Amino acid sequence: MASVAIEYNAKVIGKMEFAPGNFILKVAPVGWELPEFIPGQYGVLGLNGSAGRSPLSDIESTPAEADKLIRRAYSVASSSTAKDHLEFYISMVRSGALTPRLYNLQLGDKLWMGKKFVGMFTLENIPQNANVVLIATGTGLAPYMSMLRTLVTKNNGLNNRKYAVIHGARHSWDLGYQAELQTLERISENFSYIPVVSSPEEELSKWAGATGFVEDVWKGRALGRKWGSDPTPQDTHVYLCGNPLMIESALKFLGAEKFVKHTKSEEGQIHLEEFW
Ligand SMILES: Cc1cc2nc3c(=O)[nH]c(=O)nc-3n(C[C@H](O)[C@H](O)[C@H](O)COP(=O)(O)OP(=O)(O)OC[C@H]3O[C@@H](n4cnc5c(N)ncnc54)[C@H](O)[C@@H]3O)c2cc1C
Repeated sequence: MASVAIEYNAKVIGKMEFAPGNFILKVAPVGWELPEFIPGQYGVLGLNGSAGRSPLSDIESTPAEADKLIRRAYSVASSSTAKDHLEFYISMVRSGALTPRLYNLQLGDKLWMGKKFVGMFTLENIPQNANVVLIATGTGLAPYMSMLRTLVTKNNGLNNRKYAVIHGARHSWDLGYQAELQTLERISENFSYIPVVSSPEEELSKWAGATGFVEDVWKGRALGRKWGSDPTPQDTHVYLCGNPLMIESALKFLGAEKFVKHTKSEEGQIHLEEFW
């Protein structure tokens, strides 16, 4: 039976690059309304194999089928209060199937966007008074931007618990949303932002912030210095998003301090979303 081509139902209304291949895509639905979603949830974007790849990407070893839709999950980075478009924070995997095609899109170009937004990686159902540490590598920051932006727009500022973002990347220019998070830290007494770069020797000008990995920030007690006391499983929930190797290492250093992974059968203080 011949396959039925899926029609593109969304278009690019904004594109911004933090660094080559590290970009924001703003996507608006065409002819349908965005459903409600909970900050932290993800949707699906897609393009056909016939869509052009960025010249900065690798040549495909096996060319994708022209009329086959390539789909991948992407966390929403925009506030759930914005109803006309969604923002995604994406990093191009040079050898990847979809991201070189997404990176090649220009303003007005069409693509496919799934109409459902799902996922359990949200701030729902954690105790109201628990502090929240949001740890990410790379584009793993996306769901946290949605959480923070939604809180700020709904409450006219963050609510009372303490929040911290620890964001790891290789270089400072890979730290998307740096300016927005620095501003949020300046205007919110209860928000701390700790960016950390793992290759400071490659920086173009001296990096004055934390160096190493998110693990070094945690073990160096940077949060305790900002908060006045170290986070504990009794007062803090920790979110982990991005590179599976970071998540594996974080489960170890958090486990050593008696934080427990949250599962359907066991309540815990560690919540995680692996990107691949
Ligand atoms: C719930 C969920 C939410 C996600 N949200 C985001 C998001 O907000 N932003 C985002 O950029 N990605 C996100 N991803 C990852 C995304 O779905 C794709 O896997 C990614 O964009 C690569 O797609 P691709 O087709 O270009 O590469 P593929 O052809 O699928 O991948 C090729 C290989 O590259 C590796 N790889 C995949 N992603 C990465 C990466 N980011 N860095 C390094 N290596 C990688 C894997 O080993 C993979 O096998 C999310 C994934 C999940 C499951």
